[in-house]
Amino acid sequence: MIDFAITDLLDDTICMIWLERHLHPDGFNCPHCGSANRRFFRQQKHFPAYRCRDCDGYYTLMTGTAFEKTRQRPATLVLLLRGITKGESPAWRGNWGCHANRCIRFANGCRRT
Ligand SMILES: [Zn+2]
Repeated sequence: MIDFAITDLLDDTICMIWLERHLHPDGFNCPHCGSANRRFFRQQKHFPAYRCRDCDGYYTLMTGTAFEKTRQRPATLVLLLRGITKGESPAWRGNWGCHANRCIRFANGCRRT
């Protein structure tokens, strides 16, 4: 039997594109001033961090979202959100702690729009 994490099957780059589209449907801009003019600053855990060229603000794809403090990989977040939108059993939430609650808030927000 092969034992591996399902998140290993998902490509983090593709998942990051998915997260960008869903977390920033109006465009991924500086959360401080709204500018789209940014430069890569450094890699912060699983996400690239940027500096705004207009206000010098520091941000990542997750800044200003329910996942701002996450340490999870993009693939893990996509799986969490996918599970919620599919209405999977609440039993899985126990393994994910507070991330599950953030995901639920996010998913509920998406359903309202
Ligand atoms: Zn800015």
